[in-house]
Amino acid sequence: MPAQIAQILFPVNVPEAFDYAVPPEMSVAPGQFVFAPIGKQMKLGVVTALKTHAGDRVLKDIAQVKQTKALSASMLKFISWTADYNCVSPGLVLRMVMRSIKAMDPSEMVAHYTPSGAAFKLTPARQLVLDKGGPFPARASEIADRAGVSAGVVRGMANAGGLVVETLPVDAPFDTPDPDYGSAANGGIALTDEQMAAGEELRAQIIRGGFSVSLLDGVTGAGKTEVYFEGVAEAIKRGGQVLVLVPEIALTQASLSRFKARFGVEPAPWHSALGDAQRRRTWREVAQGRAKLVVGARSALYLPFDNLSLVVVDEEHDTSYKQEEGVIYNARDMAVVRGSIAAHAVVLASATPSLESLVNARTGRYAHIVLPERPGAVTLPDIDLVDLKDFPPEKGDFISAPLIEATNTVLASGDQAMLYLNRRGYAPLIICRACGERLKSPDTDSWLVEHRATGRARCHMTGFSMPMPKACPDCKTDDSLTPVGPGVERVAEEAARHFPGARIEIFSSDTAGNPAEIAARMKRMESGEIDILIGTQMVVKGHNFPHLTFVGVVDGDLGLAGGDPRAGERTYQTLVQVAGRAGRADKPGTALIQTHQPDHEALSALAAGDRERFISAELASREMLGLPPYGKLAGVIISGPDVKKTEALAKKFVSLAPRADGIDILGPSEPPIGRLRGLYRRRILVQAEASVNLSKYMRVWRKKLRVPAKYKLHIDIDPQGF
Ligand code: ADP
Repeated sequence: MPAQIAQILFPVNVPEAFDYAVPPEMSVAPGQFVFAPIGKQMKLGVVTALKTHAGDRVLKDIAQVKQTKALSASMLKFISWTADYNCVSPGLVLRMVMRSIKAMDPSEMVAHYTPSGAAFKLTPARQLVLDKGGPFPARASEIADRAGVSAGVVRGMANAGGLVVETLPVDAPFDTPDPDYGSAANGGIALTDEQMAAGEELRAQIIRGGFSVSLLDGVTGAGKTEVYFEGVAEAIKRGGQVLVLVPEIALTQASLSRFKARFGVEPAPWHSALGDAQRRRTWREVAQGRAKLVVGARSALYLPFDNLSLVVVDEEHDTSYKQEEGVIYNARDMAVVRGSIAAHAVVLASATPSLESLVNARTGRYAHIVLPERPGAVTLPDIDLVDLKDFPPEKGDFISAPLIEATNTVLASGDQAMLYLNRRGYAPLIICRACGERLKSPDTDSWLVEHRATGRARCHMTGFSMPMPKACPDCKTDDSLTPVGPGVERVAEEAARHFPGARIEIFSSDTAGNPAEIAARMKRMESGEIDILIGTQMVVKGHNFPHLTFVGVVDGDLGLAGGDPRAGERTYQTLVQVAGRAGRADKPGTALIQTHQPDHEALSALAAGDRERFISAELASREMLGLPPYGKLAGVIISGPDVKKTEALAKKFVSLAPRADGIDILGPSEPPIGRLRGLYRRRILVQAEASVNLSKYMRVWRKKLRVPAKYKLHIDIDPQGF
């Protein structure tokens, strides 16, 4: 057999795979994990391709093949596609894929011990193992922990014949979901005719097999989850693996419980709060094809599924699908790419689909499955605007008379109200009354936010915080620092004045950080122990509160500020979702939105309940401006420790731009956050006609600039804002 070369990709930021010789006695295949030397280190990488060893180039040998399930050809292709499209090195994408197995032990099997019942020499320590070491079988370390002895005692006892040893998989497998467990036939929710038809359409896609994308477009509470469960059930029935992506904040116990009610088991989880052992378990079970149902946040898309047959992207419009650091990518878009590479079905679900997905559905690229109504007698909430010019709140207040009245009415009838403001803390700005200075983050151009509950001033960009100072740090005047504007804490304080006796709770990432706390708070809300919930965007996603009948939006204009071309779309989406929390079950809900801009297209369309009007107006203006989905955008951020050099580097990069038709380059300019964690930032915006391959253009351009040490250049394809 001729000698072979293996190209090995390592999980590091280098542009290409490296060549290694395959030793004659070793057999490797693309996708396999192997150890190979880099410098003095042994590093784990993946074989991306094999070729014949011609010539007499001297190459280092692969050291060892790792006994881990190899990546599939489609996974390798997905890695390289993701890298190309988002203009990053494939090694960085591989790092996302491998993140969890970095810490994994070499073997998938481990020794487990069980008492043998045979006679052996018993010591007090060994007696402890028998008395307290169980349940058996278990690993030596677990037994030792429980018994309060060393692991050596356990092993010694096995040698003496007191314990039997067997090798079992390191990770317990996940229970297999049962597609019929909570179906209508088994006493589950009986779908309406419309829901059934929608479910049938999804099932048909899966039965047909191959690549398809369906946009499941249904008002809040229409039963989209119940409908895509039909698709999930069909895919599982056929032995395929299913991934359901949800926005990270929606990954709560309540949502996992819904899966359990429908499929009889909790799905395999994947999110940032998982511990190493849980992460490894999900990774391996997914790779082996044994985990059939995975529910995860965006990075679950880069798990190495063995036999993926359906990806659902729930709340597909959600901004949290965009990863903004490291590999900058949009998991919704990449889910569609993965589907086309691996030939499986993709379902995008939302009550407020992104304009990109809507246009794809209307032009026939995606199947459009519409659920226009809530099931049964449940109606959508009535949305009205409160023009703050006509109803200004009392001086120093933020809640207007109509919101107070509506809340009182709801409380009198024993129902619940929610006040929504997407601002954590007490006040977004702290100003000195004496000298006019604002409290700033030390190394970042952003204001500190007052958090009164903890007595601290915090930077929401970097996480910096300090105790609230007594005096102005600048002019040293005592007690001169004044909060400006409202955060949820301040609204709660005001609500306590307006609604004495009401039970008020704040729901934000500050008050409910961990899953257990979130679950407890949701329970209290569901069981009516809370009268008024004051929440940030955390409350928007996927929670159904049966007695919540009024939603008041404190600042409907909040998302409209700034230069983001999607500001109107985002505002519309968020407010539909927030209002959609009101009036589930059989109670009609209402929503009031306070605004200074009642004529803004997004807000007036909301009040008129006319989604179509908003969409056509928004699409028309995007088309005129050549913005997505009619044109393409890319952002470039150049950052570094010296402001002048950063500016010069950005200018140099612009001067190196290849000439091409249909491309406009704007900038460099200073972004809203001009300095972040001590690094100065400059931004360049690239606008391209739809026919341009913008990723390719950016890759070619990027290669022309050598970025000095300590400086960084990030490309963001289709940035969320600019
Ligand atoms: P969406 O995902 O569209 O917001 P969900 O699937 O979460 O909607 O459904 C909203 C609520 O209505 C859930 O509590 C769900 O169990 C319930 N529901 C949906 N369809 C039906 C139905 N046909 N009969 C009774 N309840 C339903």
